[in-house]
Amino acid sequence: MKRLLILGGTADAVELAKQAHKIQGLKTIYSLAGRTQTPNTPKCDVRIGGFGGAPGLRTYLNKNAIDFVIDATHPFATIITNNIINVCAKTNIPLLKYCRKKWIPGDISWTSVNSYSEAAQEICVTDTRIFLSIGTKLLDQFSSHSEKWFLIRTIEKPDLQIPLKNYEVLVERGPFDIKHEIELLISYQINLLICKNSGGNPPTKLRAAHNLGIKILMIEQPTFCNVNVVYDIANSVAWIYDELRT
Ligand code: NAP
Repeated sequence: MKRLLILGGTADAVELAKQAHKIQGLKTIYSLAGRTQTPNTPKCDVRIGGFGGAPGLRTYLNKNAIDFVIDATHPFATIITNNIINVCAKTNIPLLKYCRKKWIPGDISWTSVNSYSEAAQEICVTDTRIFLSIGTKLLDQFSSHSEKWFLIRTIEKPDLQIPLKNYEVLVERGPFDIKHEIELLISYQINLLICKNSGGNPPTKLRAAHNLGIKILMIEQPTFCNVNVVYDIANSVAWIYDELRT
């Protein structure tokens, strides 16, 4: 029986793990960082918690006799992705990166930036009420904007201090329909939306901001080097079958 480790934490990773779990001759282990208290998990074996950096990850792969790995973490989870790329390269364990296709501008346009700090630099004097839709990591990059007001949306009440001066935290779990997003942007008088290009189906917040003429700043996805990347679950499953045949 071959053993597959899926690094997860996204809805697509759960779906991939569900499909992998049905494959005969394969044992699937799904790994989560443990960020949320009520995570969505597949029916296969699940492990929760960091590995202890690259050395811990290497030990884990070795101890658990992992034959191959799919990194299906969020495209902005760059620490774990860089760790798994390095460890798999050193141990010759086959690795696939699954990533949702990034959003491309169409009728909805935005200003692209390549980092959180670049996004902070792009905020201008007329951007007074900002929907900072980037999760709760790296909010400190925006803390110098003490004269601005920020809306932060999270799926669970954050346990960390928010490093901003004027803000409100809104706890709610998507998906959100367009009506909800339009009402949200209007009621909070938002005049700038900052978000990450997470890929997949474009969220309704983009359409809502576009319809209301609200400026959008998009933090673009980091690129991954030295790893085979696929953009859909079917190709990830095909890769698993290829690995089972080798
Ligand atoms: P990160 O910065 O790349 O990782 C931070 C640390 O969390 C890693 O060094 C690792 O700890 C641990 N970790 C991350 N993913 C893990 C996994 N799947 N299994 C076990 N340990 C994991 O990641 P992050 O941005 O904090 O994201 C954490 C998790 O949330 C990821 O699984 C990701 O898929 C999910 N997520 C992230 C975002 C986002 O925008 N970043 C959005 C939605 C979901 P050790 O070094 O101790 O191994």
